[in-house]
Amino acid sequence: MKLVIVGTGYVGLVSGACFAEFGYKTICVDKDKDRIEKLNSGKCPFYEPGMDDLLSKHLKNTKLLTFSPSLKESMIDADIVFITVGTPSRRLEDEADLSFVWTVADEISQNINSYCVVVTKSTVPVGTSKEIKKIINKKIAKDKFDIVSNPEFLREGSAINDFMRPDRVVIGTDCNKSEEIMRELYRPLFLRETPIVSTTIETSEIIKYASNSFLATKIGFINEIADLCEVVGADVQDVSKAMGIDNRIGSKFLNAGPGYGGSCFPKDVIAFSSTAKKNGVELSILNSVHNSNNNRIKKIGDKIINKVDGGSLICFLGLSFKPNTDDIRESTSIKIANYLYDNGYKINCYDPKAMDNTKNEFQNYNYFNNSYDACKNVDAIVIGTEWNEFRALNFDEIGNIVKKRKIFDLRNIYNQIELEKKDFEYYATGK
Ligand code: NAD
Repeated sequence: MKLVIVGTGYVGLVSGACFAEFGYKTICVDKDKDRIEKLNSGKCPFYEPGMDDLLSKHLKNTKLLTFSPSLKESMIDADIVFITVGTPSRRLEDEADLSFVWTVADEISQNINSYCVVVTKSTVPVGTSKEIKKIINKKIAKDKFDIVSNPEFLREGSAINDFMRPDRVVIGTDCNKSEEIMRELYRPLFLRETPIVSTTIETSEIIKYASNSFLATKIGFINEIADLCEVVGADVQDVSKAMGIDNRIGSKFLNAGPGYGGSCFPKDVIAFSSTAKKNGVELSILNSVHNSNNNRIKKIGDKIINKVDGGSLICFLGLSFKPNTDDIRESTSIKIANYLYDNGYKINCYDPKAMDNTKNEFQNYNYFNNSYDACKNVDAIVIGTEWNEFRALNFDEIGNIVKKRKIFDLRNIYNQIELEKKDFEYYATGK
């Protein structure tokens, strides 16, 4: 099978490299020529554990993976073409911006030369794949292509493993032919007994949004419980632990913190609610989750402001929206840093991988190459992202270099008693 993947972002590139690992000839296409040039020289445009090795293996050794700026050339004899472009929030509106998807659908329609399956892997509102079908059908006869919805569930930071060992694969089709081709594509995963959910296109589109929205709801829920714990002197970590042991609840996505961020949950929650509203259905729980998560930035920012003198210097450790990625889209750590900056505080910061991305967007912070340099002479430390290298900081050393021994552990990675023994004022989340 020959595969074409349009959009070489986190999803497109990881999918492309993993399909090459399965043994398929895969061409990844992107309109960003610099990105394609970089990829052709073996450089991954973002940080994702394991990507450099996989890229180099299939670009240089097996040669199963190639990169091209030309969809026209890539589509010759393609069996399956995946749409993996971004679907961000439309500015000032709650809906998903589908302009990249429509453009690609139109481009695909101009380049189909033999039967192929067009797969929507981008996260798109219900009804989008059928619209893609209509766009392509304007130029291409119905028997020359089929549409499939095959949402992606990988997580940045563990994307390769998530792709190679997914909890499930969802295949939404409206005909047997395309379903069989998709089942053949994912055959390497059947051997690992990965559950395959075969369903309609609409159901598949909803599964993706419902899954992300449910996980966001879990996070929003435990964060509000954390607020209550702080007021009444309870410990949210123990609450989460005891709740999570219950199999009906499960322990994942039940860690209190600064709220969810990243390129998916924030936009997907509002886009899902907006799609439902358009269809006359109110997803009131999701609206509350969204508001609760938004309010969290100010809530946590104000908590810090109440404990740290105005105009002070604050060190942020961790800028990416979660560990093991350099992605800073909707990072709660950065949003809280911005809130404090807007309130007159000065910001030092350090992140193991996300410094370049943050520097490009925010020139108003002081950047350092390690945690210790970033902590020099600061009035408070905020742990914004739980990178492993922040889990074992030497607080004897840090105690000697900071101006004030104050720490806001937004991710609850430290033990209060141990830090208090070292004369730190320690503020956890939900305790
Ligand atoms: P991204 O922004 O990292 O990458 C999108 C890429 O598409 C960019 O490189 C862009 O240049 C390219 N592109 C845009 N228009 C194009 C065109 N006309 N032709 C060729 N290339 C084009 O996006 P992402 O984070 O990989 O997300 C892609 C989709 O997958 C989104 O719908 C997202 O919601 C979904 N998703 C993302 C994740 C994740 O963790 N990032 C996980 C699951 C699903």
